[in-house]
Amino acid sequence: MNNFDYVRPVSVADAIAAAAKPGAAYLAAGTNLIDLMKGRISQPERLVDISHLPGLDRVERLSDGSVRIGAGVRNADLAHDAEFARAFPAVAEALLSGASAQLRNAATVGGNLLQRTRCPYFYDVASACNKREPGSGCDARGGENRLHAVLGWSPSCIATHPSDFCVPLVALDAVVEIEGAKGRREISIDDLHRLPGDAPERESALETGDLIVAVRLPAEAARFAAHARYLKLRERTSYAFAVVSAAAALRIEGGVIREARVALGGVAAKPWRAREAEAVLAGAKAGDQAFRAAAEAALANAKPSGDNAFKIELARGIVVRALTLAMAGTPARIPALPGSPFSNAGVRS
Ligand SMILES: Cc1cc2nc3c(=O)[nH]c(=O)nc-3n(C[C@H](O)[C@H](O)[C@H](O)COP(=O)(O)OP(=O)(O)OC[C@H]3O[C@@H](n4cnc5c(N)ncnc54)[C@H](O)[C@@H]3O)c2cc1C
Ligand code: SF4
Repeated sequence: MNNFDYVRPVSVADAIAAAAKPGAAYLAAGTNLIDLMKGRISQPERLVDISHLPGLDRVERLSDGSVRIGAGVRNADLAHDAEFARAFPAVAEALLSGASAQLRNAATVGGNLLQRTRCPYFYDVASACNKREPGSGCDARGGENRLHAVLGWSPSCIATHPSDFCVPLVALDAVVEIEGAKGRREISIDDLHRLPGDAPERESALETGDLIVAVRLPAEAARFAAHARYLKLRERTSYAFAVVSAAAALRIEGGVIREARVALGGVAAKPWRAREAEAVLAGAKAGDQAFRAAAEAALANAKPSGDNAFKIELARGIVVRALTLAMAGTPARIPALPGSPFSNAGVRS
């Protein structure tokens, strides 16, 4: 690890001032950033510790019915907030399918949104990687790439975004609150993460010194609570990143889908909102025929970036499966092994 400054500001304003220069990085729980520093993948000159900033550790119910989650809220605390999980079950299910219990107890909402890709060449400083070192090339293109992107990738970078939490957040139109040198602004979470294009090192819409202070779920998102699921396929049952994942949320009346939300994880450099699938589902009779058509629409533009054509079929399958389980009804309790396609005990009537 290189030498670096460490500062521990006591207010949001102080934190933003401390992080105003390029070369500074915010430190939340450090479960991703410290690993990157140890591997010399990231070498910040200054760490701005935000773990004790006042006001970032609260889940608030606002008067307009939306729920505001402070960026410093721990992943486990949010998932186990019973009122939150009842309103946004797919979000709780996604959180509980991520990492391990120990990591979820430490990791924060803001850090989860901004965690870096798990592309193995990004973590290996001996490899060429345009994301780590712009212009150096991309060893994943001709390398071990069965888990890389099938949507939105470019010749410069074929990495995927690893977060589970972000997938239902994108499906449910979450809003990200940001404080920076120019004051406060809000963006849709769908606009937070960028596709690689020819500048994969620019991963988000944040500017130098921007601090995520909260994520807000709009009141309308809770209308899907009775029919919402997050499913994740991974190479072992727990403690593994998604090969593919899907969030599905439906509003069903008399067997007809009034509104649908679908998003995919593990397929692109950002959590992938499948609006084409949602359009197919709106007004359709809930059932296998509509779900298969939606899955086709969601993956219509998918193409392999290497040895990963299988992910396209897998993604179609998980969309159908997530929609089928969402139609059956949100489980009354989050399953013991959340995200397992085999687990649908305790379905609500
Ligand atoms: C072994 C292992 C397995 C994992 N498995 C999964 C998994 O299956 N699914 C999954 O989703 N995740 C998984 N993770 C990732 C884990 O969820 C992230 O490491 C964690 O969410 C990051 O949160 P943090 O608070 O530790 O962030 P940090 O590591 O402190 O920060 C991460 C990044 O976010 C920036 N940052 C943090 N907070 C803010 C803020 N408020 N504003 C602006 N910038 C900020 C930091 O500067 C840094 O760049 C795994 C991690 C490990 C180590
Ligand atoms: S896929 Fe992206 S992150 Fe991976 S080596 Fe290529 S440029 Fe780097």
